[in-house]
Amino acid sequence: MTDDKRARWPEWLPLRHELRDRSPYGAPQVEARARLNTNENPHPLPPSVIEAITASISANLRDLNRYPDRDAWQLRTVLAGYINERITHAATDSPQVFKAENIWPANGSNEVLQSILLAFGESVAGFSPSYSMHPILSEAIGKSFKAVPLRGDFTPDLAILRGFLTAKKPTIFFLTTPNNPTGRAMESNEIREIAEMVAEYGGLLVIDEAYGEFSDCESSIALIHQIPSVIIVRTMSKAFAFAGARVGYAIARPEVIDALQLVRLPYHLSAITQAAAIAALGQSELLLAEVDRIKQERERVAQALRALRFDVIPSDANFILFGGFSAVMHDAPLDGPAIWRALLDHGVLIRDVGIDGWLRVTIGTSEENDLFLDSLRLIVGQ
Ligand SMILES: *Cc1c(COP(=O)(O)O)cnc(C)c1O
Repeated sequence: MTDDKRARWPEWLPLRHELRDRSPYGAPQVEARARLNTNENPHPLPPSVIEAITASISANLRDLNRYPDRDAWQLRTVLAGYINERITHAATDSPQVFKAENIWPANGSNEVLQSILLAFGESVAGFSPSYSMHPILSEAIGKSFKAVPLRGDFTPDLAILRGFLTAKKPTIFFLTTPNNPTGRAMESNEIREIAEMVAEYGGLLVIDEAYGEFSDCESSIALIHQIPSVIIVRTMSKAFAFAGARVGYAIARPEVIDALQLVRLPYHLSAITQAAAIAALGQSELLLAEVDRIKQERERVAQALRALRFDVIPSDANFILFGGFSAVMHDAPLDGPAIWRALLDHGVLIRDVGIDGWLRVTIGTSEENDLFLDSLRLIVGQ
């Protein structure tokens, strides 16, 4: 928020002190031919999925005079089925069965993250750079967030982390893998080591797997069986092309899920959302069909960026962080914000995530990616 906007809060408004200097979270939404700034799935839902969702919602409309199932049992059962079939099997040889009792869905994984913060502990920490909502959600409810810096190549330094955790013992430690905004996935042995470190002093490790379906790495959900204080958070917003419906979920031990229900709003998930999500999960094969195509496009864009001699962080997600601008643009030096602006002039909106020397681009349709790359070539004069 700019200074003049900040000054706008009137005297009579008893806004909490720590909120006075804050601005609402959100990427700038400006008109652009290619909107590659919020990591959405660029492909609209297939017609057969739309039909299934429409039928599922229709069947519930008569009963909108009633409150929805406040525990969302059917949706949780269907989510458990998805996880057992699609995620756990890829992650382990022995079937590790999750049940509805292990799942907690809410309006986007952001609401899940907020519930975790409301339910547990006092102090919060996580790596930086990582998902900006982790500190924003923490601080909005009055819990301080401490950041542990990643290395220059955005990998974790476990020795530094060990020292930090031993000294500070944050109740909640956030780990995002694949990480946003870097795209990097963390090694599973490192994740396990971090989970053990956090469990040792009685903390909770929240692993944000919002981009899990785009990664070739295993999910960490099998860790839940060995370390009870691990919570996995996933979402239907990205891979499922379901951002507009607002459905995310936690996977954890039943004790963790029970505790989350202490802080949930009554009837938090509307009957319409539940019906839509159940129908969509019934079509997960079709909905996830585009994931492979997005991964192929990601590799194509990464290669093209490397060919232009940008630095490219290896990505396991549906976006790419790229930098090294001074080496590419030695004739007409442009920094990140200038490249961001020049791309927007070409009709391409990407994201300046606030890391000096880096920009993030979401993988779009192949036409959108071409427009991005062609515009970038014009800008760098190649
Ligand atoms: C996009 C994103 C989310 C989720 O968002 P919802 O739409 O609220 O499910 C969560 N974590 C990370 C790291 C993300 O990038």
